[in-house]
Amino acid sequence: MKKTLFLLTILLSFRVMAQPNIETASISTIKIKNHIHLLQWTGAGNMMLLSGKDGNILIDDQFAPLSEKINTAIQAVNKGPVKFLFNTHYHGDHSGGNENFAKMGATIFAHENVRARMAVDTTKIRFRQKPKPTPESAWPVITYKEGMTLHLNGEDVLLFHVDNAHTDGDVLFYLVQSNVLHTGDCFMKDRFPFIDNNSGGSVDGWLNAAARALTLIDDETVIIPGHGDLATKKDYRTVRDAVMALRDAVRKEVKANTSLDGIIAKNLTKEYDTTFGSGFIKGEALIRTIYIEQVNKR
Ligand SMILES: [Zn+2]
Repeated sequence: MKKTLFLLTILLSFRVMAQPNIETASISTIKIKNHIHLLQWTGAGNMMLLSGKDGNILIDDQFAPLSEKINTAIQAVNKGPVKFLFNTHYHGDHSGGNENFAKMGATIFAHENVRARMAVDTTKIRFRQKPKPTPESAWPVITYKEGMTLHLNGEDVLLFHVDNAHTDGDVLFYLVQSNVLHTGDCFMKDRFPFIDNNSGGSVDGWLNAAARALTLIDDETVIIPGHGDLATKKDYRTVRDAVMALRDAVRKEVKANTSLDGIIAKNLTKEYDTTFGSGFIKGEALIRTIYIEQVNKR
């Protein structure tokens, strides 16, 4: 029975992951400014193109089969190869096109933990397969620990690493002149966050990342989340406040020695489920993640 349930879970996961159809996917281009575009396909991470006299700078690149379509969308905005490609983190829906874009001449940048995780592809471990490294040609060739500042296409772009948030290799990008923030998967509008604790993510790190981002931005900032629609500071703060309240509530229960089943039975996410629970992460999954972290901290 347990085995059947496990297989069912895996099959359902693949069903969820398999839609929408990558074959028929089309990349939509949304102009934020003349030199800043959001490139989007619902099945994978949001990309940002910063274009101009210094060439095409791309943040994230979705799955490998989409590279050609992504490149066509880029050429429609600004002709020329992608010069520099940045990964917000190592998940395949944000870095799957690395090998293809590297072949087209892009230099790939990412946090040092992105390169380390690509060398041992931990996503395969979750499906009980032998870890299989990502080909070396897909790995970032320039890595950093804390961050850096770009001065390209009329923008100062602050790249800063946030520790152990969605994963252990997350980087946020803030475009100073245009007041645009790309959060990678550290934030999704109207969704409970996915905190990948199998890849070094943590709830407290996620909250710290949100605090840093919210300090930096203002009510006029355009936020490109890891997935979904463009967002505002208020959207980010609303999700942050919910996660903080849930973290505090679970911490209190753990201190009172309430069991995981007991905590889940309390339905702590009830008031947020309608607003944030319609995505990949349901309230219960977030509670389980918070619980594991709080128990380990005891
Ligand atoms: Zn991710």
